[in-house]
Amino acid sequence: MYLKRTAISLEEAKEKLAGITVTPKVVRVKSVEAHGFVLAEDLRAPFPIPAFRRSGYDGYGILAHDDEDFPREFTMVDEVGAGSTHESALKSGECVRIMTGAKVPDDVAKVIMLEDTEALSGNRVRILRTSAKSNITEIGEEVARDERVIPAGTRLNAGAVSVLAAFGVSEVSVYKKPRVAVVATGSELAENARPEDGKIYNSNGPLLSGLAQENDADVTGVYELTDDLEATRELLARLTAENDLVITTGGVSVGDFDFLAVIAQENDCLFNKLAMRPGSPTTAFLMKGKPVIALSGNPSACFTGFWFFAEPLIRRFQGQTTRIRPGRGILRDGYTKKNEFDRYLNGVNGADGVSLNGHGQSSELSSLYQANCFYRIPHDTAVTAGEEVAIWWIPER
Ligand code: AMP
Ligand code: MG
Repeated sequence: MYLKRTAISLEEAKEKLAGITVTPKVVRVKSVEAHGFVLAEDLRAPFPIPAFRRSGYDGYGILAHDDEDFPREFTMVDEVGAGSTHESALKSGECVRIMTGAKVPDDVAKVIMLEDTEALSGNRVRILRTSAKSNITEIGEEVARDERVIPAGTRLNAGAVSVLAAFGVSEVSVYKKPRVAVVATGSELAENARPEDGKIYNSNGPLLSGLAQENDADVTGVYELTDDLEATRELLARLTAENDLVITTGGVSVGDFDFLAVIAQENDCLFNKLAMRPGSPTTAFLMKGKPVIALSGNPSACFTGFWFFAEPLIRRFQGQTTRIRPGRGILRDGYTKKNEFDRYLNGVNGADGVSLNGHGQSSELSSLYQANCFYRIPHDTAVTAGEEVAIWWIPER
């Protein structure tokens, strides 16, 4: 089959994908399972925090008009541990022993820290000195009732789920994670525990499913196919019907067994050639309206393609934009290999600049785990150490 390929730029390719209609869906999830979801509505405080006057220290609670003439002796009338209360009124010269986090009785004006006191015999205590601070956190000092604590659009990390718990919120509205299927194609992928001669293990399957999960997708399956046009067609038809996005790897080039490009042409092809390296044969198409991003089988190209093309789409399903942040970096090493296309290398950007991660080969896989950015070597250009380049930060994963 003759395939027409016209190279478009990375930016044009991203625009084409940005043109796909995506409708984020909102679902209710239990707060204990909400980690990694994006909040779809503001979280407002159902009650203030603290909800009661809270002691900041272990010590003794005293009345306002007893807060003078130290050192002075008091009678301890009760012990208030965290979680318990003391309700009856204090008389002058009386105090309550109180612990950190306990509810301070309404008439207590100050908690004198234990360090500023001396225990005497029985229930007598000597308070040696007072302090400027009351050591009491007043109601709503941290959060007022109905205050917006977490805005809609926030990805719920550990700190955020702890807020849900602190307010006793048992369920929240979040964006449904997009269902993503990963398909690795290639007759060289080993089925056995030990690859036979000429075969390799499928490392891109776990790479893509891991990246999709790191970006909060619901990975519904990782499939393997031999280079078989009919089997690939059938699987893609099924997976596009069942998922929001299908990401494939391998079989997009111009080899005799590269069937993804053929299937793209039979469907609604968005692009099938990019003016970039690695990953120039990267392809994207819609199959009955569902997006398929077909990445190169070369691991490094596959990694780069995921971040530039799949990640922004995964985030859009959650009402979000890409987490890749563009910036500038200073090259630690020069790069002299000239190319007709812009080259996007994966790098490590540290305090002393951007260095090449691994050897810069698109077939490389062993260094991908440590890349924290991509950087661009413009086409037909050699760059020298110390030059400034465009970089794209890979988000913390
Ligand atoms: P392709 O894009 O199918 O032409 O494959 C390009 C290169 O990537 C070949 O060397 C393949 O063996 C390798 N490759 C393809 N698929 C995978 C995979 N799932 N895991 C690791 N390497 C792969
Ligand atoms: Mg292949």
